[in-house]
Amino acid sequence: MKKTISKIIAAFSFVILFSTFGYAQKLSGEEQKIVNYIDAHTDEAVALLEKTVNIESPTENLAGVKQVGTVLKQEFESLGFNAKWIEMPAEMKRAGHLVAEKTGTKGKRVLLIGHIDTVLSGEKFRRDGSKAYGTGSADMKAGNVVIFFALKTLQAAGALKDARVIVMYTGDEENSGKPTEISRGDMIAAAKRSDLALSFENGGSNIATVARRGSSGWTLEVTAKTGHSAQIFKESMGSGAIFEAARILNQFYETLRNEKYLTFNPAVIAGGTEIEAKEGIITAKGKSNVVPATATVRGDLRFISEAQKEAARAKMREIVAKSLPGTSAQITFSDGIPAMPPTEGNFALLKQLDTVSQDLGFGKIEALDPGERGAGDISYIANLLPSLDGLGATGGKAHARGEYADLETLPRQIKRAAILIYRLTR
Ligand SMILES: [Zn+2]
Repeated sequence: MKKTISKIIAAFSFVILFSTFGYAQKLSGEEQKIVNYIDAHTDEAVALLEKTVNIESPTENLAGVKQVGTVLKQEFESLGFNAKWIEMPAEMKRAGHLVAEKTGTKGKRVLLIGHIDTVLSGEKFRRDGSKAYGTGSADMKAGNVVIFFALKTLQAAGALKDARVIVMYTGDEENSGKPTEISRGDMIAAAKRSDLALSFENGGSNIATVARRGSSGWTLEVTAKTGHSAQIFKESMGSGAIFEAARILNQFYETLRNEKYLTFNPAVIAGGTEIEAKEGIITAKGKSNVVPATATVRGDLRFISEAQKEAARAKMREIVAKSLPGTSAQITFSDGIPAMPPTEGNFALLKQLDTVSQDLGFGKIEALDPGERGAGDISYIANLLPSLDGLGATGGKAHARGEYADLETLPRQIKRAAILIYRLTR
């Protein structure tokens, strides 16, 4: 397991080094036309951003999410895509997803991913110099616009003919509907008929995401013999539930805390003679002269690959099983978002994007440290095909008041996406 991780890290460093010395070719005549078209139509891209930001679409506002989807659906239909809105079962309380597809026979089959829901609501589009303020502007309505305008440009250049492209905008990225087998089923199906995936979440101007850590939850439950505190440590009484919980946590800390990209955070703890556990709340009762009968700890686990997750879980179970006298404990794990591991395929895509960027005169693109990024939609399909994320807008204050997208870099991001998709679909 450790070997796998160090191999991943070695591959990471190697490919960064390799891409630094990548050979840069210039733009072809057709590619230059694509660039010129984007320069002449940037105002249209900003207008579409304004229109979609001004429709409020927090995940729980199903009508708003669908309305943004309807605007984009019409836009994709105007490019000759077969666009459809996919509803989710009513009990999931999610708006659904937009899928726009174009069939053909040429080049790689490209899957482009965005999301039309936001976390917050309430701030309308407002332009101040090169900044476009508004809820969801950076995360990720500007990224959605990058996808659409890259394709619109290719269509105008006649370069989409026979290309195979699927665009998927999910309506619940910020809080995915459960079960995820259903809410991410259509995305997985789209990935299975594609060769690679590009996701346009907000990112930095010269970095892209080749890996994202996954997340999982865990609950530790300890029970123990209870009685007069003066009896603790005696054979008939044992150590009590709280010492056992402390032993387990300390051994997690001693054994696992130095593993690269692995984190585990015990978030809530309670112990005593009695505890009551509800969603998000644990309360405990106890007396200082009674050996505690019970203890509960809840936490999370973040990992760079399924192998690392499984190895960490095995180690944690092993530690939990070594009970102190008079106690017993069990740990249960729940799956959250899978990891997007940094595969060779992802680095090969990064290298292609890097070449495109340098050919455009926009400089090198490097890999973002996976420790710097949370989980996201791309992680549900990254095990199926080479993937890259963070290709959308640059900006700031995502998931906060004062969110903005940087309009100065918007045409640059569209050009990078358009030329990359152009080259992939030849
Ligand atoms: Zn996002």
